[in-house]
Parts: sequence; structure tokens; C-alpha cells
Amino acid sequence: MKDIKITRTKNSRLSSLDFNNIPFGKVTSDHMFSADFVNGEWTNYEIKPVENLSLHPSNLALHYGQSIFEGMKASITKDGVPMLLRPEMHASRFNASAARMCMPAFPEDDFVEVLKLLVGMEKDWIPPVTGSAMYIRPIMFAKDAALGVKPSDTYQFLVLTLPVGPYYSRPVKLFAETHYVRAVKGGVGEAKTAGNYAASLYPTRKAIEKGYDQVLWLDSEEFKYIHEVGTMNIFFVFNENEVVTPAVNGCILKGVTRNTSIHLLREAGYKVTERDLSIHEVAEAYDNGTLTEVFGTGTAALVAHVEEINYKGKRIFLSKDKWGASEYLRNQINGLRDGTIEDSHGWMVPIKEPVLAG
Ligand SMILES: *Cc1c(COP(=O)(O)O)cnc(C)c1O
Repeated sequence: MKDIKITRTKNSRLSSLDFNNIPFGKVTSDHMFSADFVNGEWTNYEIKPVENLSLHPSNLALHYGQSIFEGMKASITKDGVPMLLRPEMHASRFNASAARMCMPAFPEDDFVEVLKLLVGMEKDWIPPVTGSAMYIRPIMFAKDAALGVKPSDTYQFLVLTLPVGPYYSRPVKLFAETHYVRAVKGGVGEAKTAGNYAASLYPTRKAIEKGYDQVLWLDSEEFKYIHEVGTMNIFFVFNENEVVTPAVNGCILKGVTRNTSIHLLREAGYKVTERDLSIHEVAEAYDNGTLTEVFGTGTAALVAHVEEINYKGKRIFLSKDKWGASEYLRNQINGLRDGTIEDSHGWMVPIKEPVLAG
């Protein structure tokens, strides 16, 4: 990897952090990673105190949305070793998003090395409370200052780390949306790109006004096939053992947790199928009593139980005593993350004490 210039803060904010009360997303650790793409190559690798950016008002990302991100969590074992879960999958997904948005790839080995260095450096920010973690947010955006709808020539890549307390995800209520859509065939639904989330705000606000937590997105042609939830992929369990999750089709974000969940459930003897799944099939299974469980998967909540789905006024209720597959998954993934369950897949990447210059 290129040399990294490291500048340490002289005023750590760590002592002002209340580990028992961390507002999610609002507190960054002391340092961030930054790199610039200029003249066709990545340069200026740097870890430095988190600081404001200075952008020209005609910055392309602000006007036309050329911006992508990733989201993952570093956990910490009982012995205090920070661990990443499948970081190389996040690196390759980041570059897939970049390709779709006409942005340059960031070298995947460097991506993983940078995360290890930064998280190793910031590990005291991971709360010493079981279930806590460090949320990692890589982001890349256009840097050209010139109006005109075209790909930027210059970019900035940043990695922020944010401490997160234990995440007690409560069950969620989903509103199946039959007017607005998240993604269309041939669109950018598979990319973790800024505009997808901006577009989801309004329908999500409407769902919240109706008493729901999130939108369950359906396909844009027939409003029939289930896609996913805001920042989670979705799984349905029939007869307690048959697990179905919508097949990726260009409209669905390829979740790392989704992939991990499919592997773990299959190994535990569940029959897992990736296929088109219509909301009518789900409603019918509910009526005849074969729909036993619904849950979402994603980095933030890991596994979130779904307690209700509203489809055109039909209310589907899921009972807590059938939470078998989701509870199993949650325990397995948490066990891998805190090192209490052996990692037989080679998914966990430990971060040894970094040797840093500077
Ligand atoms: C990030 C994201 C997910 C979950 O992906 P993970 O890699 O499991 O965190 C699912 N859906 C959308 C729309 C997302 O942005």
C-alpha cells in the first residue's frame, strides 16, 4: 500500500464520550482516513483528525449525486481484539457501486488495510460493553467544481468511524408500498449510492405517519414482487423451516448480512431459496397459517424481527413465539463477532495492534 501520512490529534475527544449513552451517527472518533483521486490515480493517503471539508459551491456530487458509501461494523472480542466481518466483501461491493456511478475503483487490498489501520488506531472508542461496536463509514464522492452532467475527473475517499452502543433492535412494522418505488429494472437499486436514500425519505415519512417503521418495497412494474426494506434485506420463513429471500435482480442491494445469513441457515439445516416472492403468496401463506416468521438483515440491526406487514390494508401479524431462524442467526452472528463462536468460514479479520509511524 502507498505510504500513509499520519497526524494524531492533540485534543482527543474520547474522554467526553459517555459510553452508556451514544447517540447513533452523531459522534465520530478522533481520526479519519482520506485519499484523493487526481490525474487518474489515488494519492494523498492520510489519517488525520476529523475536520470539515471545504467544497466549491459547484461541486458535482452536491448537484448530480455522484456519491457512494459503505457501512460495516467492527466488533471487539472479550480479549479486546477488534474484528472485521468479511471486509473484502464490502470492498468489492464498494467498487461495484463505483463502477455503476462512473467512479474510479479504490484498490480492494488498500480498502481493507485502511480499515484495519484506522479501527486499530481508534479501538479505545469501541465501548467496553457487550454488543458494542465501531460503525465504519467509507464514502467516495465527486470533487470537480464545474457544472455539467458528466463524470467528475477528481474524487475524494474518506473513512469515518463512529462508536455505537449495544443495539437492541425492537421488532419492526412494515408498510408495503404500492405507489412509490425504491428501484427499477436497469436503475441503480443495487448500488449503495446517495440518491437511493434521498428518494426513500418521502415514502418512509408517509409510512411513519401511518404508524409503521419502514417501507417494504415492491417491484415497480406490478407492485407484486417483494424487494427489500430501507436498509435491510428481507427473509420469509414458511412452515418454520423453508426460508425464502428475494433473488437479487439488479433492484436489490446485495447485503453482506444477507449472504452470511443464507450460509448460516443452510448449514443449520434450513432449506433456503433465493427466488421471486410475491406479496400475494405471503398473504396467502399467512391466511392458511404456513407463514411462520419474517425478519430483515443488515449491518445496523444484524437481524430485525418483523411483527407486522400492512399490504393494502390487510394486516399480517407475526408471532414472537415463532422467532426461530432469526434468533438462531442473531446468536450465531453475534457469537462470531465477539469471538465466542469459532469462525469456520474465515470471515473474521482480527486487527492486531497496529505498528504506526507518526
Ligand atoms: C446496506 C443495505 C442493506 C444491507 O446490507 P448489509 O451489507 O447486510 O449491511 C440492505 N439494503 C439496502 C438498501 C442497503 O443500503
